[in-house]
Amino acid sequence: MRKKIVAGNWKMNTTFAEGEALVKAIIAKKGEVKNDVTLVVAPPFTHLTCLAEELEKAGIGLSAQNCAEHESGAYTGEVSAKMLASVDVKYCILGHSERREYYGETNATLTKKIDVALKYGLIPIFCVGEKLDEREANRHFDVINAQLEVLTRLSAEDFGKVIVAYEPVWAIGTGKTATSAQAQEIHTFIRKALAAKFGAAAEQTPILYGGSCKPSNAAEIFAQPDVDGGLIGGASLAADDFIAIAKVF
Ligand code: PEP
Repeated sequence: MRKKIVAGNWKMNTTFAEGEALVKAIIAKKGEVKNDVTLVVAPPFTHLTCLAEELEKAGIGLSAQNCAEHESGAYTGEVSAKMLASVDVKYCILGHSERREYYGETNATLTKKIDVALKYGLIPIFCVGEKLDEREANRHFDVINAQLEVLTRLSAEDFGKVIVAYEPVWAIGTGKTATSAQAQEIHTFIRKALAAKFGAAAEQTPILYGGSCKPSNAAEIFAQPDVDGGLIGGASLAADDFIAIAKVF
């Protein structure tokens, strides 16, 4: 049985007080979610240290939204994987489409980031997904295959730690969701591509769907055999919605 995971990507939202209140509200409702569903939240860097203990006690995973590609040194403004691990962060989102689009992250950058994240014991939540024009040109499989090269070069041991998130860029923050059939089609494609390199281990890799996921559409998407949960943006900023999505399992 693969792990079921619902992760909230808060992006650049919430002051510390708002983030603390959101965490308290999520913790208060966590009992409504089945025990075999792993909840993860990815607040901004500034909140991580202060939220770590409370989340740990509640059994909720703490994730960063990014990490530096370098280990340490003269990289003003960057936050390293080692720093994140030192404040008990367990997961790190890597390759989010907003990082690829606005900060120019490429396979080369992401290869360095994933290596350094794994070195310091962070579990990467590695995002892949095609843009609208790429889907319309029927290039979505090629695009995703190319993005997956960051994973297929990992050792079997490191690969076993990775979580994948399929996030069609045209569905992120747009209110447009992939149909459950579109999600399943890509999730199967991803699993097969990973299995071609890692064999049966790919059967254990959680593949999350992300893109305008909300309580009203999560049930249908999560019911697909290769969808193992969600990476939730907007809807993770309201505890009721985040928990309602996780309760779908
Ligand atoms: C995301 O940014 O990871 C995401 C899925 O956003 P939203 O749910 O808002 O589309």
